[in-house]
Amino acid sequence: MFLEHKLGIHASPICVMSFGDQGGAIRLSGGAGKQKSRAYVHDDERSAPEGGYPGLTIAERAYQQAREYAKERVQGRLAASKSGGGVAIIHHPDVRRMLMTMKSQVEAMRAFAYVMVADMDRAYRDPDAGERIRRQTRVDLLIPVLKAWCTELGVEIASTGVQVHGGIGYIEETGACQFLRDARIAPIYEGTTGIQVADLVSRKLESDQGAWMAAVVAEMRQARVGARAQH
Ligand SMILES: Cc1cc2nc3c(=O)[nH]c(=O)nc-3n(C[C@H](O)[C@H](O)[C@H](O)COP(=O)(O)OP(=O)(O)OC[C@H]3O[C@@H](n4cnc5c(N)ncnc54)[C@H](O)[C@@H]3O)c2cc1C
Repeated sequence: MFLEHKLGIHASPICVMSFGDQGGAIRLSGGAGKQKSRAYVHDDERSAPEGGYPGLTIAERAYQQAREYAKERVQGRLAASKSGGGVAIIHHPDVRRMLMTMKSQVEAMRAFAYVMVADMDRAYRDPDAGERIRRQTRVDLLIPVLKAWCTELGVEIASTGVQVHGGIGYIEETGACQFLRDARIAPIYEGTTGIQVADLVSRKLESDQGAWMAAVVAEMRQARVGARAQH
C-alpha cells in the first residue's frame, strides 16, 4: 500500500492497495454482463449530484476570497482619473467584470442545485405517484448536466479567482491557487465530464428521443418570460 501525492485535496489522503499479487485474493463480482453495468450506472447516479457540489462550494469560496482581496489591494488610478491617488482594485472595470462573472455563475450553479434537490425530495416523497415519476425522470435526465457543468465551471471560477489576485494569487500562501488545485479533480472523479456527456446523449436523450429535455427547455423558456414580466 502507498499514499498517492495528489495535485489538490491534500486533506483527503488516498492510497493504492494491491490484493492478491502473490495469489490468495478472492474477487466478489457486482453482477454479470448487463446487470453489472446497470449496477455501476445506478451507483454513479446516486453519487453524481454530490459529485457536482464541490464545483459550487469551491467556486463560492474562491469568489468570497477574491472579492475581499479586491477591496483591500490598492493598485492604479481610476480609469477616468488622470491625477487621483491609488484605488482598491475592485474599482477597476476589468476586476469588476471578473468578480461579477464569478458571482453570477456561482448563483446560477446554486439555483440549479436547489432545483435538483427539490426534485429529488419530491421524487421520493410527493403524495402523487405520477409526480414522483415525473420528478425522478427529470432528476435522471439532469444529473449528468449538473455534475459536468458545476465541476467544469468550478475550475474556471477558481482560476478567475487566481487572476483577480494577480501575481500573489500564484503564491501558495494566499490560498487562491489551493482552490484551483482542489477544484481540478471534480470534473474527473464520480464520472468524468466525457462520461457524463455520453450518459446524457446516448442513454438519457436517446431513451425518449429528447422529449423530456424538450419539456425542460420549454419550462426554462417559460420561467424566463415570467421573470421578464415581473421587471
Ligand atoms: C483523488 C481521487 C479520488 C478518487 N476517489 C475514488 C473513489 O472514492 N472511488 C472510486 O471508485 N474511484 C475514485 N477515483 C477514481 C476516479 O473515479 C477515476 O479516476 C475516474 O473515474 C476516471 O477514470 P480513469 O482514471 O480510469 O480514467 P479513464 O477512464 O482512463 O479516462 C481518461 C480520459 O478518457 C475519457 N474516456 C474514457 N472512456 C471514455 C469513453 N467511453 N468515451 C469518451 N471518453 C472516455 C475520460 O473522459 C478521460 O478524459 C478517484 C480518483 C482520484 C484522482
